[in-house]
Amino acid sequence: VTPPATVLHSFRAAVARAPERTALAYFDGRLSYAETDALSDSVAGRLAARGIARGDRVALMLQNSPHFVIALLGAWKAGATVVPLNPMYKSAETAHILQDADAAAVICSDRAWEAYIRDTAAASPVRVAVTACELELQTRDDERVLGFGRLPRPDDTDDLLTVARAGHPAPADRELTAADVALISYTSGTSGRPKGAMNPHGALTYNAERQRTGHPVPEGACYFALAPLFHITGMVCELAACIANAGTLALAYRFDPGVVLDAFAEHRPAYTVGPSTAFMALAAHPGATREHFASFQVISSGGAPVPPALVEKFRAGFGPYIRNGYGLTECTAPCAAVPPEQEAPVDPASGTLSVGLPGPDTVVRIVDDNGAEVPFGEHGEIVVRGPQLALGYWRMPAATAAGFPDGELRTGDIGFMDADGWLYVVDRKKDMINASGFKVWPREVEDVLYTHPAVREAAVVGIPDAYRGETVKAYVSLRPGACADPAELAGYCKERLAAYKSPRQVEVLEELPKTSSGKILKRELRSR
Ligand code: ATP
Repeated sequence: VTPPATVLHSFRAAVARAPERTALAYFDGRLSYAETDALSDSVAGRLAARGIARGDRVALMLQNSPHFVIALLGAWKAGATVVPLNPMYKSAETAHILQDADAAAVICSDRAWEAYIRDTAAASPVRVAVTACELELQTRDDERVLGFGRLPRPDDTDDLLTVARAGHPAPADRELTAADVALISYTSGTSGRPKGAMNPHGALTYNAERQRTGHPVPEGACYFALAPLFHITGMVCELAACIANAGTLALAYRFDPGVVLDAFAEHRPAYTVGPSTAFMALAAHPGATREHFASFQVISSGGAPVPPALVEKFRAGFGPYIRNGYGLTECTAPCAAVPPEQEAPVDPASGTLSVGLPGPDTVVRIVDDNGAEVPFGEHGEIVVRGPQLALGYWRMPAATAAGFPDGELRTGDIGFMDADGWLYVVDRKKDMINASGFKVWPREVEDVLYTHPAVREAAVVGIPDAYRGETVKAYVSLRPGACADPAELAGYCKERLAAYKSPRQVEVLEELPKTSSGKILKRELRSR
């Protein structure tokens, strides 16, 4: 199947097929495909009237709300490239990306505008500001659900919903192609300064189609947006795949386990994808029952390592099998997944769960430091070639040349492939711990910690050690009501791992620091 050229093409096909079907469900609020089409047309018309031209960058900084989707489609209909921004960002982070992306417009919440953007916008390239109150469009007790009250609207910005409801016609001359840049996606920054990966429309529709056919659910089924839409996983595997399937996208603002479980009960979704940490949090919630997960036909996890113990505990407790998938911002979300009707094997030697098989048009190779392919089973860097790759990093030719030599993506992840083609991610190259010359891959140690019944989350990092150069330290958080002291956890690892891999220090924290896409922030743990 040839994927549509852009997400707008698949959106228009869904509008034609099922105009009355609910496209967006947000608490008690519902918008049909036809309504979403009209609202986003009007946003496009207003952006064009305010001078936003084809290829201009429009920054979009909203939570998982209908506002996000209307603004995104509107910006694309105006021919713009969208720069999704994490809505948790504060002044410095926002100012950096608005400058770097040379954004002509910003669409954000009233709150973010007031607190973090207005003061720096004067010195930035931003000419147009559209703000939204994400409480609108949902009818339930706003403050209880979303945790904050309504602010007076800023008077120096356009109001998103007023613009969307004004009936401006969309400009007719902005047709996009598969090669146009849909997104400049700044990497989540778990390992340093964010770089903007340029994802073309064709990469989004290719991966959305792979997701739709690789994890099939009936046409029109409900997709639950668990991963944030500003992150490439949410954007492609939830939003774009849902639109390709003319489905209903259920949104719940931001991740809160209690609110998410209520939303599962209300919308009965068939499909969701999120980082493994989200499933750990849902499983640890005292209100979670099997019934909450009964409607799911597919649950997949991407963007972060999946400990095999989580998959088994989750299946035993709640029913669904969590399907692992491997992807990066630079390959527009997934490049390997577990096919339907199969389960990912666990490597017997290391206990690592496979991330799946590369897609049909995707070539994944494992190479040594000289770029030569290594035999099956041996460790090397994972490199990827395929139709889903980003075009490079925005205005960073040196980083693009280093990251995409000859059009192939160097992932910076160490992995191996077994003789049947199953791919395994060992760890990030830069996270390797060198303890007296012994290589320790944190993920292997974390996988062991996750088998301990008291452990909720685990992160292993290298810390400086005068004698060994580096030594292994584990940070863990515990399941509610569980107790385990550091010495017991260190002993547990020592019984199961070589001494040099076992953590010499274990520290129990209330909560591990995370990015708002749910990834554990090792950078922050290392600098403690
Ligand atoms: P930064 O590039 O700034 O460090 P980031 O790496 O978190 O941020 P993403 O593109 O969101 O940016 O994440 C991609 C990375 O996530 C991969 O390189 C890999 O290390 C990890 N990852 C993704 N999926 C999996 C998986 N299924 N198992 C293990 N690791 C995974």
